[in-house]
Amino acid sequence: MIPLFVRVHSKDNVAIIVAPEGAKPGVRDEDGFTVRDQIPQSHKVALARIERGAPVVRYGQTIGLANRDVEVGSWVREEDLSLPTAPKLEDMPLSTSVPEPLPSLEGFTFDGFKNADGSVGTRNILGITTTVQCVAPTVDYAARRIKAELLPRFPNVDDLVAVTHGYGCGIAINAPGAAIPISTLKYISTHANFAGRPLVVSLGCEKLQPSRLFASILPMLDEGNVIRLQDERGFGASVSAIMEVAEKRLVELNRRQREAVPAAHLSVGLQCGGSDAFSGVTCNPAVGFAADLLVRAGASVFFSEVTEVRDAIHLLTPRAVTPDVGRKLLAEMQWYDSYLAGGGADRSANPTPGNKRGGLANIVEKALGSIAKAGTTAIMDVASHGQKVTSEGLVFAATPASDFICGTQQLASMNLHVFTTGEGSPYSLSLVPVVKVSSRTALAEKWHDLIDVDAGRIATGDKTIEDVGWELFRFMLEVASGRKTWAEHWGLGNALVPFNPGPVT
Ligand code: CA
Repeated sequence: MIPLFVRVHSKDNVAIIVAPEGAKPGVRDEDGFTVRDQIPQSHKVALARIERGAPVVRYGQTIGLANRDVEVGSWVREEDLSLPTAPKLEDMPLSTSVPEPLPSLEGFTFDGFKNADGSVGTRNILGITTTVQCVAPTVDYAARRIKAELLPRFPNVDDLVAVTHGYGCGIAINAPGAAIPISTLKYISTHANFAGRPLVVSLGCEKLQPSRLFASILPMLDEGNVIRLQDERGFGASVSAIMEVAEKRLVELNRRQREAVPAAHLSVGLQCGGSDAFSGVTCNPAVGFAADLLVRAGASVFFSEVTEVRDAIHLLTPRAVTPDVGRKLLAEMQWYDSYLAGGGADRSANPTPGNKRGGLANIVEKALGSIAKAGTTAIMDVASHGQKVTSEGLVFAATPASDFICGTQQLASMNLHVFTTGEGSPYSLSLVPVVKVSSRTALAEKWHDLIDVDAGRIATGDKTIEDVGWELFRFMLEVASGRKTWAEHWGLGNALVPFNPGPVT
């Protein structure tokens, strides 16, 4: 029999309803607890009487203050909670409770593509990068022809991905914020799944010249791989030029073979999107368990989404491996507070109507569920917006929470992506495999041909967090070795959207 509700922490005075059809007034559980209202699945029920002004507690933390008296057994809705103030960034405990390293995990491998720089690809992809949006339709046209006419002759090459985006010109390229999209595009262009080297298509007159895009790694910029459309004699010649260089590159890529490498060569970016109140008790803790396994295997695993970390920062800074890493975490929170304030907003702008329909009352509850993805190990480093993750172990890589912007920024560092969802999103990326984990079994059943792993079985008691964590870890190794995710099966890849906090001219 499935439980009536899931309570996360012994201090909690609210829990979430498990049954897909919700709970009706008068329903009792084995202990005689009685529901007073009609409460939808994943929404909160009061486990005790909560007086007006008293804390509403979930995950052992205050998620809001009751703005009316709440009777035991009644539905605790979004509008019943006042948003508490965000944790103050001053006087935060730094590195005060650093977890002991977990025992190392040996013997797990995947079959990947070794690169000259020591990185390992999970896919063997021909990359065509672009310096400006103006060339994107021409590149897309050439890409369609390459896929149809050339790619079938090169069976060891998995795909072709055009790195097209909305950046590159009409921007204040020397403004401080410009460094973020430029470095994001640089790292995507030299991605492990492109064997570290793309073709480059430039217009000619744009602000983001190829020499600027690759400024810090100019030796990467092989002029033979750069096509400037303004140097070509018309559209047909432009397409031919791209196809000619692409064919040479395909010959090289086709010689590559998968080889067994330790799981330590994985670099996994974690993200959630379309979260619901189950996310924090099913998929995110299971991903957190898998994150611990990755850390134990010597891999790199990182979590992001500043606004979904901000309200739980007091739980993270004690886990920073050194006070300096703790201060870097705080600096990222401060930077984003200022960024939002500059736009006349704050972190309360984060939750979506879907999050609220899924039972998440506010950003505090969302953040407490979101950080479960980060598992239990020490935070070894912090990468700022646009920086590449270079440390092994658990890292915080600052990004916005927006799925496609976060994913674009995480691409700088990851060769595998894990995405958890409660309401459901078909979001994916073309350059790395995206493993989708659902918070509820109902979603996994409804979207049977999009969800790769169902963590909803944790809520119904059919599986434990550890079971699903191990299942996900093993699935990641299979996917890294070439097994296709559902999103890859359908060829889904969202547009790349580099985060540009700088001005447009
Ligand atoms: Ca997100």
